[in-house]
Amino acid sequence: MSKKQFKAESKRLLDLMINSVYTHKEIFLRELISNASDAIDKIYYKALTDDSLSFDKDSYYIKIETDKANRVLKVSDTGIGMTKQELEDNLGVIAKSGSLAFKSENEIKDGYDIIGQFGVGFYSAFMVSEVVTVISRALGSSEAYKWESKGADGYTVEPCEKDTVGTDVILKIKDNSGEENFDEYLEEYKLRSIIKKYSDFIRYPIKMEITGTRLKDGSDKEYEEYKEEQVINSMVPIWNKNKNELSREDYENFYSEKRYGFDKPMKHIHISAEGTVTYNAILFIPEKIPFDYYTKEYEKGLELYSNGVLIMNKCADLLPDYFSFVKGMVDSEDLSLNISREMLQHDRQLKFIAKNIKSKIKNELENLLKTERDKYEEFYKSFGRQLKFGIYSDFGSNKEVLQDLLLFYSSKEKKPVTLDEYVSRMPEEQKYIYYAAGESVERIEKLPQAELVAEKGYEILFFTEDVDEFAIKMIRTYKDKEFKSVSSGDLGIESEENESASGVDDKDNKELFDYMKGVLSDKVTAIRASKRLKNHPVCLSNEGELTIEMEKILSSMPNNQDIKADKVLEINTNHDVFKTLKEAYETDKDKLKLYTDLLYNQALLIEGLPIKDPVEFTNNMWKVML
Ligand code: ADP
Repeated sequence: MSKKQFKAESKRLLDLMINSVYTHKEIFLRELISNASDAIDKIYYKALTDDSLSFDKDSYYIKIETDKANRVLKVSDTGIGMTKQELEDNLGVIAKSGSLAFKSENEIKDGYDIIGQFGVGFYSAFMVSEVVTVISRALGSSEAYKWESKGADGYTVEPCEKDTVGTDVILKIKDNSGEENFDEYLEEYKLRSIIKKYSDFIRYPIKMEITGTRLKDGSDKEYEEYKEEQVINSMVPIWNKNKNELSREDYENFYSEKRYGFDKPMKHIHISAEGTVTYNAILFIPEKIPFDYYTKEYEKGLELYSNGVLIMNKCADLLPDYFSFVKGMVDSEDLSLNISREMLQHDRQLKFIAKNIKSKIKNELENLLKTERDKYEEFYKSFGRQLKFGIYSDFGSNKEVLQDLLLFYSSKEKKPVTLDEYVSRMPEEQKYIYYAAGESVERIEKLPQAELVAEKGYEILFFTEDVDEFAIKMIRTYKDKEFKSVSSGDLGIESEENESASGVDDKDNKELFDYMKGVLSDKVTAIRASKRLKNHPVCLSNEGELTIEMEKILSSMPNNQDIKADKVLEINTNHDVFKTLKEAYETDKDKLKLYTDLLYNQALLIEGLPIKDPVEFTNNMWKVML
């Protein structure tokens, strides 16, 4: 029988597991029990739609056995089992390879992080075992197979005997070494406490033989040992318990046991609703972004139970997209067990629950924002983007739900602020909510376009994410105040005198500006004397709905249609450079062409837009030095 090699990535992980310094090695048991429970769930599911299968509750269980003398710990289940192919596919390759790819080398070396955050299922058995043997018989098959591995050097698969469908995972526990005490994984009391801690809410009985002592028959002082099979877990689902009985740790354990995430949840929401629809729900707001969150692979949804029976793993209809980061479950006695997915979508009860859940999540987030700002900001760093997408999609129809959850960096406060905070501080004469878009706070702070607004003493919101401006266009107004980009043509703050003065400017300089416009042709829609610039000689502003920032974002998308914002080149007529322009117009048109080109390209650079011809631009630079 030949030995097969693990896939490269799995091998790396195995090495890590075998040499792990991770202090919570005991989680291997949680992982194996969860796998066992999943395997039973799979039969359960099948039985829901397959009439030839019946699910007799009593014949499904998980069993823990120990053999101290031989250092063996066995976790068996009566679940769906694995075929030969499945043994190879599932145990020869790490399932969540994505999670490894996602972590940097350093974090992997550390070990702690990857085990703590992602869990690594079956492989964690190697933290405590010398040899891992899996004997499995798949549902519907009469053959059984034995998979065995000592770790990174590979594994074998061969036929074997097994009377019943299901899987036995047999661990040969390592010898104690140095400070490591592996013996305890063979001790009943220890195993019992690990199961209680992590797997108490598993829906199937976890049975274990417990040794007890009792008085010998007919004796009043002689004791004897006896073995008795006990069910260790309470099996009472956490969501049926009273909130007051549960500690934060209980919720956290439930979160890990359910594999909702490998972080600790930031918040939990426990709902026990009675009335129109009776249901219980436990929802979690995660602390960290799942590694696949902003990818197509990420699936939103909550587990859905009907009276304690799982009917769907990920019910997407229970969560709006903008709250897709929420994890958890819903159990309702008002839902039919046999409801099909198609019917479920139109189910009145389900819609009611979804609506309820939506507002609970919203309230919880608002509450977090009010009472634990730091935590909220942490949350917002991870999922704020999703909230903004939520506003942008569906034509802004969710803005009422979401707008008060938004945060934007403030030019004045130098930290993220809400729209409400912004508006409540606005001086009376300020007409608009001003914002500036750019790729980073540092960059926006230097934008010449912001000078006038800043000088007026008005607060500016910094939009540093691509979705920001698109989302704001959907909100349109907040508390009757319109949003205004500092780069837009009309800022609504020019004073009367300024207005007329610059009006004269434009007329006075008509010939000069016409000439420059001729040089730039359709690269800009107009050239104007700037009303906003103070210290900088030039900037670009835009006319019309599409802003320059939006142009940048649209052009970075695949299949972009080369959509362009209408740009105006604004010239600071109070700047010394302007005198030079005028002079050149009178005396040297070639110079003026050169200057126009340079100024235009400078404005592009400031805006973060690409220069069409960098070589020509640099040539022009040295030409002015001659
Ligand atoms: P995960 O459970 O997160 O997918 P694991 O490494 O723990 O990752 O397990 C890999 C796969 O092996 C599982 O998805 C499952 O298909 C299969 N598996 C593991 N344990 C069992 C079991 N006791 N019974 C049936 N299948 C199992």
